[in-house]
Amino acid sequence: MAAVTGQDGDVDFSFVSGNPALDLAATVGSRRDKPVDTLLTPADLERWVADCHELPDHVTVDAPALGTTVSLREAIYQLALDRVLDRPFDPASVEIVNNAAAGPALTIRLSDTGVHMSGDMTAVLSHIARAGIAVLADSRACLKECGRTGCTRIYLDRSRGARRTWCGMEECGNRVKAAAYRARKRASADG
Ligand SMILES: [Zn+2]
Repeated sequence: MAAVTGQDGDVDFSFVSGNPALDLAATVGSRRDKPVDTLLTPADLERWVADCHELPDHVTVDAPALGTTVSLREAIYQLALDRVLDRPFDPASVEIVNNAAAGPALTIRLSDTGVHMSGDMTAVLSHIARAGIAVLADSRACLKECGRTGCTRIYLDRSRGARRTWCGMEECGNRVKAAAYRARKRASADG
């Protein structure tokens, strides 16, 4: 749940897009109405990276790295939206993503306890950009915008027959169903 409770960084990030690049793009919610940015400080970004299972547990972020991340995030969102709307990619955004992907790779080590990832923020952004390129370039990947008005999260629908309507049940599906239930109840009370 991306519940914003204030300016103190008390935000629970959600990773339901099916791809870390799309999850990064979704750190801005409600993009068309009143955009809500959950990555306002370097500490927010450090926490987001730590919470993402595909990225290192610890990374240090400074203000310039936050700026670079935001620029990559907006480029990824633009390209994902281009895919959803079936139009050519925005060239400036393609360049930003390609430049980030040219960075160093994360170090990945296997052990009995699982995989340990390490690397600096440049490597993290490179990893995210590569993951984004993989999904954006895949013509069979079904990218959709969440069906809840105001969510605006773009996610990868891997369900059979691509029947998913919402980015996540907890995030949006249950909210839409609860609102519909309340509306039906009101309608029957009026009638
Ligand atoms: Zn949603």
